Amino acid sequence: MELEELKRKKRNVWDFYPEEEIEKFSKTYSDFLSEAKTEREIVLKGEEILKEKAFINIDDSVNGEKLYKKIKNKSLLIIKKGRKDIKEGFNLVTAHIDSPRIDIKQNPLYEDTDIAFLETHYYGGIKKYQWVSIPLALKGVIIDKNGKTININSEKDNIIFSIPDLLPHLARRQAEKKLSEAIEGENLNVLIGSKPEKDSKEDKVKNYILKYLNEKYGIIEEDFISSELSLVPYGEAKDIGFDKSLILGYGHDDRSCALTAFYAILDSEPSEKWSLVYLIDKEEIGSEGNTSAQSMIFDEVLLNFVEDYKELINIYAKSSVLSGDVNAAFDPNYKEVFEPKNSAYINNGVVMTKFTGRGGKYDSNDASAEFIGKVRNLFNENNVVWQTAELGKVDEGGGGTVALFFARKGMDVVDMGPAVLSMHAPFEIISKGDLYSTYHAYKVFLEKFK
Ligand code: MN
Ligand code: MN
Repeated sequence: MELEELKRKKRNVWDFYPEEEIEKFSKTYSDFLSEAKTEREIVLKGEEILKEKAFINIDDSVNGEKLYKKIKNKSLLIIKKGRKDIKEGFNLVTAHIDSPRIDIKQNPLYEDTDIAFLETHYYGGIKKYQWVSIPLALKGVIIDKNGKTININSEKDNIIFSIPDLLPHLARRQAEKKLSEAIEGENLNVLIGSKPEKDSKEDKVKNYILKYLNEKYGIIEEDFISSELSLVPYGEAKDIGFDKSLILGYGHDDRSCALTAFYAILDSEPSEKWSLVYLIDKEEIGSEGNTSAQSMIFDEVLLNFVEDYKELINIYAKSSVLSGDVNAAFDPNYKEVFEPKNSAYINNGVVMTKFTGRGGKYDSNDASAEFIGKVRNLFNENNVVWQTAELGKVDEGGGGTVALFFARKGMDVVDMGPAVLSMHAPFEIISKGDLYSTYHAYKVFLEKFK
């Protein structure tokens, strides 16, 4: 054997994939990402596309070849039946569709010194200083006193908000604080207006807002209690760099996996095994709740196709999962937190992460060598550009994904997704080529994994 063949080579996505294909897919992705910024919006838009492609809602019939199930409007399970019986197991790609953001409290509205605000409680792991003094949009639902759902999407109406920050001139004491304490969670109050309601004696600005909300949405103050409203970064995803090779956008974690998985199952050729894509809520807050990866709804949907739980457990043991989630891209400005030989690099393709977790692989799925061996060979046979990494140096920190919840059912699982710069910032960065290689990896897996 030649010495060259003994060494593992790094590959660059731009050397392997046709640029037109990368650009075409990236445009489709960015358009979707710009429009759908909450799990509800992704499920809604996803359903629209699924219907166009003749997928049938499982609630209507389980007999079609292409099916989907909406779970409380916040998660989406897509199923393409294979040539073989489901008894032979299935191939599943999971990804989460919730992203870090700032949620509105249940008693949010107040005025202070003639300015109106909403109280908030942030969702997921954020660096709070990144979320002040930027344009924000309000999205979500309000259930009114008659039980009617009112959809809120301020971005569509060009209604924008912002959380003010302290001027540097008076920030001497703030600047001396620790980064994590300089901006307190309780101070993330979003500015929503300042005009007085002329007939009011007190609470003039709050009253103006209440009247506005009643006229525009037909709601009263108590309706906030039965609402789910979130502030998300305002604005579209943008191509960045002179070469436009990267995408700056909100929620690449984890829509760069969710939307690539979505299009991978839509575009995939008919396969031997059943193909499933599961887009899940609540990963960023620990996968609890009935729309999360830990909910039993996944089992319940699959019980439509099998006899009983015993059979389902047998099927799980024969099934394989790519847990679609992003990894941290090596950032040359912060080399000290990465171990360069086991880090993910921009443009080196989709990242296979054997284990996540923290401190001695704690809380991690830790995929088996046997399963990784099969995935690796499949990718190499099909020219997928891929790399492998863990998240940061040993004992530097860590993170988790939904991998362990599916492994728990008996399936083989490994984490797989693109590398992200500025993860959990309002606007994150990925490479268009890595996005394409992620799509390629998922598609090959769904079509061909045995
Ligand atoms: Mn994630
Ligand atoms: Mn995350």
